[in-house]
Amino acid sequence: MPIDAVVGLLAHELQHIDTQRKRGFLISLFIKMLYFLTGDLKEERETDKQIILKGFAPQLLTFHKWHNKTYEKYTAKDGLSIKEIKEL
Ligand SMILES: [Zn+2]
Repeated sequence: MPIDAVVGLLAHELQHIDTQRKRGFLISLFIKMLYFLTGDLKEERETDKQIILKGFAPQLLTFHKWHNKTYEKYTAKDGLSIKEIKEL
């Protein structure tokens, strides 16, 4: 895996932790249950948007390209598309 892809992946996962820390445990648990029950897909996409705002767009793009080539292509439930990342 290219180092930029590793950075993109870590930035995404650390953003989840930061978001949960700011929300608090109970609110995060409630939101996760709500996402699970409703199939709402906003959390992964919102996490991608937040790391792009922090300057990790190139690394996130590298990760998505690597993932799409190595595994299944990302869908809207997995996060932003390559086109959406490039547009932000
Ligand atoms: Zn995620």
